[in-house]
Amino acid sequence: MQANVGRETSPEQVLRRALRRARARFECDARPEPSLRCKADFVLRGRRVCVFVDGCWWHRCPTHFRPPKANARWWKEKISANVDRDRRQTAALVERRWRVVRLWEHEIGTTTPERVVSMILAKQERP
Ligand SMILES: [Zn+2]
Repeated sequence: MQANVGRETSPEQVLRRALRRARARFECDARPEPSLRCKADFVLRGRRVCVFVDGCWWHRCPTHFRPPKANARWWKEKISANVDRDRRQTAALVERRWRVVRLWEHEIGTTTPERVVSMILAKQERP
């Protein structure tokens, strides 16, 4: 598990700064649809784009997730529930004509924030 608590620049902060630099209009940690129990890390209401920055551990990144040895079953269920909820939320948003951009936490560090931002602002799925 990666500890982000207390880290000075979280992936969300990096992305927030890059979005500001690009003069994008967005809300942080906001509900895109009042009728959905769903918060996105960034909501670009004008463009109908929701951005989620998924933690590699909590959302089971294929590259970085390692199942814990202690309480393995409990964690497996917990993480699976997270992944299922991610899928349901994405589907519900897409159904309401939002474009959903899901980024792994590690992607923010491996590419430049500017590239991530241009992917968010462009009408394409991935960079
Ligand atoms: Zn990862």
